[in-house]
Amino acid sequence: MYPTIFGLYEPSSIYDTLDFLDNGNAKIIAGGQSLIPMLKLRVIQPKFLVDLNKLRGDLDYIEDRGKSIGLGSLATHAKISTDQIVKSKIPLLSVTASKVGDMQVRNLGTLGGSVSNADPSADYPAVLLAYDATLTLISSGGERKVKASEFFKGPFSTELKDNEILREVEFPVLEGYAYKYEKIVRRAGDFAMVGIAVLAKVSDKVEDLRIAYTGVGEKAYRPYELEKELVGKKVTRDDLEKFAEKVSATLTPPSDSRGSSSYRKKVAKIATIKTLSEVLGVVS
Ligand SMILES: Cc1cc2nc3c(=O)[nH]c(=O)nc-3n(C[C@H](O)[C@H](O)[C@H](O)COP(=O)(O)OP(=O)(O)OC[C@H]3O[C@@H](n4cnc5c(N)ncnc54)[C@H](O)[C@@H]3O)c2cc1C
Repeated sequence: MYPTIFGLYEPSSIYDTLDFLDNGNAKIIAGGQSLIPMLKLRVIQPKFLVDLNKLRGDLDYIEDRGKSIGLGSLATHAKISTDQIVKSKIPLLSVTASKVGDMQVRNLGTLGGSVSNADPSADYPAVLLAYDATLTLISSGGERKVKASEFFKGPFSTELKDNEILREVEFPVLEGYAYKYEKIVRRAGDFAMVGIAVLAKVSDKVEDLRIAYTGVGEKAYRPYELEKELVGKKVTRDDLEKFAEKVSATLTPPSDSRGSSSYRKKVAKIATIKTLSEVLGVVS
């Protein structure tokens, strides 16, 4: 199917973009990897598209700020997966970016597009929750910062208003953390049936643990209260099995082409045990 007719606006500055968005009935286009299919299926029928790609000078950056790394919304998955700052300072994001879609999608798709789209099976939202990342949203009225835990509202729904753009995602640099992104897919290059992002600081016991899931509910999910049960302990296989059982019981995955709800819960449980065993160094 063809999209309905729309106008294309290519702003030359962020201010032009924000003024234009104030007029309403316009949609941002970044990499187009999610937007174009939605236009073709006529899920959305905006009057105008606002193409951000001329604003790469303002929105495509990876900035090392010492204790944090700021990534502009137009940073592509390919750039994030290969950039040396991201690899060394926020490696969980780097490995996750390398698992998004296929090479074509990674070359065009952007961090900002994926995060703004908030697909319940997208990879980044779980990573943003694990890092407790901060998002900067801008409109003609100014700028506001939102934590990842507040940003994702539901399937394809976020804190972004129609006249706002996501400018940046900022990640704290967590020194000495082990990490892993486990992605279970039906076919190579697919969205996650279950995705698990883990960051953990481990000495002779678990000092900090952040575990977040994608594909298992209406939005990315981090079981904050359950995480605490493993902190301060020398974790055993038995602890992990109990933890995974409890987490699995809180998940609400959909039944769809990627698997039934009950199957995804089982997969999430087994993958939780496997991933945490590896990251926490638990011997079976
Ligand atoms: C074949 C295929 C496989 C894929 N596999 C995966 C996968 O395995 N894992 C995964 O996570 N994703 C996957 N994706 C999605 C991919 O990651 C997209 O790149 C991403 O969802 C959208 O990024 P984009 O830059 O293309 O955004 P666009 O498609 O241009 O925009 C997406 C949405 O975000 C809005 N938007 C974009 N940028 C901004 C901004 N800065 N501020 C406010 N709103 C904005 C747009 O208005 C639109 O609503 C796949 C896509 C395809 C086509």
